[in-house]
Amino acid sequence: MDAEVDVELREQVRKLCSRYPSEYWQKCDRARAYPEEFVQELTDAGYLACLIPEQYGGAGLGIREAAVILEEIHRSGGNAAACHAQMYTMGTVLRHGSPEQKERWLTGIASGAVRLQAFAITEPDAGSDTTSISTFAERKGDRYIVNGKKIFISRMQHSDLMVLLARTTPRADVEKRTGGLSVFVVDLREAGDSIRVQPVDTMINHETNEVFFDDLEVPAENRIGEEGKGFSYILGGMNAERILLASESIGDALFFIDRCKRYANERVVFDRPIGQNQGIQFPIARAYIRTQGAIAVRDGAVALYDAGEPCGAEANMSKFLASEVAWEAANVAMDTFGGYGMAEEFGIERKFREARLYLIAPVANNLVLSYVGQHVLGLPRSF
Ligand SMILES: Cc1cc2nc3c(=O)[nH]c(=O)nc-3n(C[C@H](O)[C@H](O)[C@H](O)COP(=O)(O)OP(=O)(O)OC[C@H]3O[C@@H](n4cnc5c(N)ncnc54)[C@H](O)[C@@H]3O)c2cc1C
Repeated sequence: MDAEVDVELREQVRKLCSRYPSEYWQKCDRARAYPEEFVQELTDAGYLACLIPEQYGGAGLGIREAAVILEEIHRSGGNAAACHAQMYTMGTVLRHGSPEQKERWLTGIASGAVRLQAFAITEPDAGSDTTSISTFAERKGDRYIVNGKKIFISRMQHSDLMVLLARTTPRADVEKRTGGLSVFVVDLREAGDSIRVQPVDTMINHETNEVFFDDLEVPAENRIGEEGKGFSYILGGMNAERILLASESIGDALFFIDRCKRYANERVVFDRPIGQNQGIQFPIARAYIRTQGAIAVRDGAVALYDAGEPCGAEANMSKFLASEVAWEAANVAMDTFGGYGMAEEFGIERKFREARLYLIAPVANNLVLSYVGQHVLGLPRSF
């Protein structure tokens, strides 16, 4: 990445993050609390609006800067998963919304007055097979009536708006399975009893929910783009999500490596720093080398994305490599810290749990392999 611009931005983000040390994240983790102060400060600093064009009050920056921000948050020991979607979920509105919709929502998101942190795609009966979702939005006059259920919908309780993917034509009636799906912006503040939220407790401190829609009314003017084309709109936003979450994983990997470096130099056992033992040193070096590889692939994806070039393969591969190396580094840290890796106060076990998520979300790595097998290598379609 371009060194000069990034050095300054990295410094600024590091400074902000230094006010949220490991103890802060541990406290949130223990209480299963939303990191409200951190998210507010990120919002006030304009970082969550970095991808929103200046005409709507955002910073008008590229995916490169967004990647730097998220990488640094994770490298500092923090966790941007509480709010990262505020950066990129608005992309569907930006790319496919009408001028009125952009004016209506993007300005509020950019100023921090409105939160768009939730997007609802996954369903219990469809899983990774998104085109099999069955939540249905039926058009009735100037409204859509939504019924169905979703699972693992994150940050809903801390968001004002939610992007929803729902069927508007039954799957049996569409020629291609990707057809007949539409995207809506749902104002959660107006939903009342028609949305029921059931929190799902997970192994990390992450607000995620099962969601039930019971005759939810969504004004037709909240539909983004054309009816039936929603899948392609969501797909178009996935490259940004892959690159940004890859950056969080890279930050995680660097966090573990930084911690390992320090600890392996300081911890003396058998009259020598443990880092002198190749059994400790080599896994750290291997994780470092692989992290550099993941950074290079991520940077390649970033350059293509910011140039407006197709980058599906690169974005997916960077998410795959970064999540794998973060998990490798997490395990190396556990070995390096010995018993202290398990002790809460060292902060390794929390990060270890958090880093694991990215092997399965926002897309499971098997699905990335199948994408590369089929679309990049031309191997037979497996599903
Ligand atoms: C903490 C958390 C937060 C989340 N937040 C959101 C959110 O905000 N919004 C949202 O819409 N979703 C969210 N998700 C859902 C997430 O995107 C899905 O969990 C993920 O896409 C995998 O789907 P699944 O869990 O249904 O797994 P499944 O699809 O049931 O897959 C289970 C396993 O089988 C493998 N598998 C399935 N099919 C194949 C195949 N054909 N070939 C090889 N392997 C296969 C998968 O790789 C996976 O390992 C979140 C999930 C978690 C855990």
